[in-house]
Amino acid sequence: MTSKTIALLDGDGIGPEIMAEAVKLLKVVSARNNIDFDLQHSPFGAAAYFSDGDSFPTATKNLCDKADAILKGPIGLGHEESKKIPIDMQPERGALLPLRRRYNTYANFRPVVLPQSLSHFSPLKKEIIGNGIDIIIIRELVGGLYFGKKETGIDKNGKRFVREALEYDEDQIFAIAKVAFETATKRKKVLHNIHKSNVLKSSVLWNEIIDEVNQDYPDVTVVNILVDAAATYLCLNPGQFDVMVMENMFGDILSDQAGGILGSLGLMPSACVGPEKAYYEPSHGSAPDIAGQGIANPYSMIGSVAMMLEMSFGMVKEAANVWMAMQAVFAQGHSTPDLSKSTDEVKLITTSAFGDLVASELQKIPRVS
Ligand code: NAD
Repeated sequence: MTSKTIALLDGDGIGPEIMAEAVKLLKVVSARNNIDFDLQHSPFGAAAYFSDGDSFPTATKNLCDKADAILKGPIGLGHEESKKIPIDMQPERGALLPLRRRYNTYANFRPVVLPQSLSHFSPLKKEIIGNGIDIIIIRELVGGLYFGKKETGIDKNGKRFVREALEYDEDQIFAIAKVAFETATKRKKVLHNIHKSNVLKSSVLWNEIIDEVNQDYPDVTVVNILVDAAATYLCLNPGQFDVMVMENMFGDILSDQAGGILGSLGLMPSACVGPEKAYYEPSHGSAPDIAGQGIANPYSMIGSVAMMLEMSFGMVKEAANVWMAMQAVFAQGHSTPDLSKSTDEVKLITTSAFGDLVASELQKIPRVS
């Protein structure tokens, strides 16, 4: 029997609640596929800071190093709560960015998918959604503004200042560009390159490299769009997009907007892929506003499991089955509260009921090896 070690980093807020549903699914997948998942939990984020005095403790690093894949729940605290943690230990700076740096997970895949049949979840009009939304956002994840040099201090006039650099070298841009062109080649052969070259020099270099890599992929048509315009088009005509590529901060912001056009960030899973290791996480945060209520949507976490099955373990068909099982639950009229109001014609269900239903749907789908 094949065995895979998966590091489970439950995280903060709704993290443990949605991780429990991911584990439910992993157990079903394990039983159906004669594969043993060695599931090992380890603290990460604010919870780790409070339990171990470190947001990314050594024991968690050691587990992640030996794991075949990492499944991470969202981390972070509400605005005021965060102040209980020193700035450099706060979950993103103390855990998330170091995790990304440790495994050089430069390629972040964020599927933005809403079938036409579920268009009622979206705040957009049905005619704008058309045949449904099916976009993949490819975000560079270990460079740019989030990883550039940072400096704070007092200037010669006695004023506080801050300086943060948006840095890329050409190798970093080549690497993500190649991923984007490869993805576009497997899909509709159209790549939307999102940039801000009218203002940022970093985007000028970015665009130069996109043009150079395009020469190796002559079948792919590149459409260049300024990031601000792209934000508008995502609302007015999302159907024009198929594969979108962009630098780190643009991707952070536009992918949350993409969650908004679907109806909830709870529909946003992701994969963060490096040369030797990948980790999988919902695109959203720890949702402190709904934590502990059993109403978080675990789709993003279970979708991240599906991406892990496909991208880390090569279980392409079973990954497709997990997506199908989730869509089946929605098709039966079920919904978590983030996607619907109690007055809508839907059956509102809890986080764990969603996980139970998906697990039961998956068991009904014949497994083809
Ligand atoms: P958030 O993404 O946590 O929440 C934004 C809104 O989306 C909230 O109304 C929330 O209830 C809702 N939401 C998010 N996920 C949901 C789900 N699965 N089901 C139902 N509703 C869901 O953003 P925020 O409130 O700005 O941030 C909270 C914390 O998360 C902050 O500390 C932030 O730094 C952190 N954060 C972490 C990550 C990460 O772990 N990768 C990403 C983004 C934000």
